[in-house]
Amino acid sequence: GVPRHGTGEWQALDHRHYLHPFTDHHDLGQRGVRVIECADGVYIYDSEGHRILDGMSGLWCVNLGYGRQDLVDAAAAQMRELPYYNSFFQTAHPPAIELSRVLGEVAPEGFDKVFYTGSGSEANDTVIKMVRRYWDLVEQPQRRVFISRRNAYHGSTVAAATLGGMAPMHDQLGPMVNFIEHIDQPYHFGLGAGMDPDEFGLRQARLLAEKIEETGPENVAAFIAEPVQGAGGVIIPPDSYWPEIQRICREFDVLLVADEVICGFGRLGEWFGSQRLGIEPDLMPFAKGVTSGYLPLGGVLVGQRVGAVLGQQGGEFAHGFTYSGHPAACAVALANIRALRDEGVIERVRDDVGPWFSERFATLADHPLVGQARSIGLVGAIELVRDKDSLARFDKDLGVGGRCRDACFAQGLVMRAVGDSMIVAPPLVMTREQVGELVDKAWRSLDITASSLGV
Ligand code: PLP
Repeated sequence: GVPRHGTGEWQALDHRHYLHPFTDHHDLGQRGVRVIECADGVYIYDSEGHRILDGMSGLWCVNLGYGRQDLVDAAAAQMRELPYYNSFFQTAHPPAIELSRVLGEVAPEGFDKVFYTGSGSEANDTVIKMVRRYWDLVEQPQRRVFISRRNAYHGSTVAAATLGGMAPMHDQLGPMVNFIEHIDQPYHFGLGAGMDPDEFGLRQARLLAEKIEETGPENVAAFIAEPVQGAGGVIIPPDSYWPEIQRICREFDVLLVADEVICGFGRLGEWFGSQRLGIEPDLMPFAKGVTSGYLPLGGVLVGQRVGAVLGQQGGEFAHGFTYSGHPAACAVALANIRALRDEGVIERVRDDVGPWFSERFATLADHPLVGQARSIGLVGAIELVRDKDSLARFDKDLGVGGRCRDACFAQGLVMRAVGDSMIVAPPLVMTREQVGELVDKAWRSLDITASSLGV
């Protein structure tokens, strides 16, 4: 079992032994790690006994909230029955087969096939290989190039990291895969100041057409993007953006991949973000919310066009993971989807708590430090600015986003900083009252941040 230690002892052990993802270890050594010991509903509890509203659903995944006995029971029951088996070499097991059927029910029309992975990164690596396999099978093997967007996060494996467009990941390790191109994202606040949003949306979408022309349309395999870009700063595209992207993909016969790792399973108030934004993709990689994060599971939902080819092919698709369709993870996913359905969680996000959140979250734009507050479903961002009229940013060295994040934590709220954008994606089960608590704590944290800056 796990021993019980005090905070100081955990921090010392952590610093000695644990290399964390995406963490500055010098900084961590100075501050000491925050130890989260348990959780319930929308709250996490640290080793000091603080109750903290988890405005990020862990890492955008605990859609149903913490402490769900039904998910725990599903995992335990499956582990007793069959804790592990694989689906390589013409075997399968009931939880993976049943989940494949159920995913076909909740996904948009035509998405009746699925390939499982253990994570979102593996899902996006799978997309790359699957798309190649598709173009090979339909005898256009020269279609090799993927186009994605700057500042996107599609995962941390070598291929998914290259697919993503986050500058620090590219700066550190250099280009690792050479068939991936990037275009700018539809970030109106950051890149389209002064432009009409729809005009800006069209301009950003047409960057795709330009990149396809430049690459040679016959060489382009697919375009991949999140319906709403999450880790890049909750970039909600103008209404004109996705229809134009869709049109361009059709014009050049380029496959469209919607990365649903964050947007899937209710975040935007529909089962998939593509449904909310009217996108008709060919493939939908997913992970996170499929199990509400209780066990790791990811995969690629495959639409008719690719499914008809891969589902009938002769010769094997030489790809798969030991934990592709892990039985316990699939059992948890089934329980999670059952709860999302039976409790009307996604409809509540669409019709009730989502609109309520949007209304309340928008009031943060009245704060002197905030240049914009935007949201959709249960995900939102506020932009911190030095001057509300000119929307000028603070000097980067001031680390204003980081200050605000720390102030939030001290107030009992997890908010994430992406530069000077503060983002939230709380559990979908949150109440109206908890939305109020989130917004009040965010406001107080903004006050504290402002006074730390002397403004
Ligand atoms: N795609 C998107 C849109 C993500 O946000 C993430 C993770 O944050 C991933 C892919 C990678 O998923 P994982 O961390 O499960 O590998």
